[in-house]
Amino acid sequence: MPESGNISGARYDNILGTVGNTPVIRINKLGPPGINLFVKSEAFNPMSSVKDRLALGIIEHAEKTGALKPGQTVVEATSGNTGIGLAMVCAQKGYPLVVTMAESFSVERRKLMRFLGAKVVLTPAAEKGTGMLNKAIELAEKHGWFLTRQFENEANADMHYRTTGQEILAAFPDGELDYWVTGYGTGGTLKGVAKALNEKSPGTQIIVCEPDNSALLGSGKRQLRHDNGSPSVSHEAFRPHLMQGWTPDFVSKLTEDALKEEYVDQVVPIEGQEAVRLSRALAQQEGIFVGISAGATFSGALQVATKAPEGTTILCMLPDTGERYLSTPLFEGISEEMTEEEMGISKSTPGYRFDKPSAAPPAAAEEVKPEPEAVSYMEEAIADTEQPVVMFALGGASSAGLCANSSIVSASRTAPSTWIRWPTRKTTRAASCALR
Ligand code: PMP
Repeated sequence: MPESGNISGARYDNILGTVGNTPVIRINKLGPPGINLFVKSEAFNPMSSVKDRLALGIIEHAEKTGALKPGQTVVEATSGNTGIGLAMVCAQKGYPLVVTMAESFSVERRKLMRFLGAKVVLTPAAEKGTGMLNKAIELAEKHGWFLTRQFENEANADMHYRTTGQEILAAFPDGELDYWVTGYGTGGTLKGVAKALNEKSPGTQIIVCEPDNSALLGSGKRQLRHDNGSPSVSHEAFRPHLMQGWTPDFVSKLTEDALKEEYVDQVVPIEGQEAVRLSRALAQQEGIFVGISAGATFSGALQVATKAPEGTTILCMLPDTGERYLSTPLFEGISEEMTEEEMGISKSTPGYRFDKPSAAPPAAAEEVKPEPEAVSYMEEAIADTEQPVVMFALGGASSAGLCANSSIVSASRTAPSTWIRWPTRKTTRAASCALR
């Protein structure tokens, strides 16, 4: 909480003004003693991930250069967070959005995009990241849509240079940041922030994490790509891994740029189960609710921290919220039902338990008969196929009885939209009778 007198009272012209300026938070329990360990939580963006930055950066750049015309459809291949960020930006700015996504990514992500008005086209899991990317290219070419090309688009890295990078420099203004730790997906965060640190805080070492079972950078093998920078084949070291959003089955151009610029000091392999464990530990011991790639990046930061001398300052990126992973291994073992321990707590007092009835059962509800006038009107209205009706009820036994009838109405008519009639004197009267 800000101290009173320190309250910002910020107002924004629209949601897009709330992208970025995410907090840097000290880790108090999970780090080794004597180390200044901080995290930057990108879950504080409006759609709760780092990719809100990319989405805004790419769309604004395309508007400026004229690559994106008013009302033109935007299309992108995304594991979810980019699509969710783009869906927010496109909704606010009025562009239709089509997202291609491998069926293996979490269901929450698809639903969120559709909720924000985007269309989601699934691609077979077996065809991996390159499959969804090629589908987006096909669609863009066929329909003349604007393809955002998040993996090659310089506007992605540039947004991170202008925002994430400058925010980090402002949080550690005196060059006191010894290590900055990140993963990579598009490599936009990596390339943009690394460039900013390289310019203004050259002493900061840049640590890049990747899955230990899918060590594309660690393999030292080159990525083959087309002239426009997009990958031409799946990288041979790729294996499926737990960190959604990290390390697709190719090394993106932006990631390769960061390596070529020699921004990267060290590549650290991360074990998937350790990533899950640390994501849970951040939630349960620090109250910081983040996803699996965040737990993975934090694992890399802890590896650095345990070897670093006292007084070292480390900043770790946390790319998104844990809420995006309800249907994934992150929530495995988190039950919907009461655990034994919770049952024990329930049984520790006498009332309101499932294993025995409550001491004083609630009085039986008084039976209320619907008024004959209401019933006969309702029967008449239902029988009249010429006149559509809308039925509603606010509660009570008589309205519940009539409500049961309404389901018969809806079942007996084919298109629900044909039975809306509101307001009329008759329906109002019938409803008020029923509800008395
Ligand atoms: N973690 C998650 C959950 C992500 O969605 C992404 C973006 N795909 C990343 C990490 C990596 O970010 P970037 O694309 O900037 O490399």
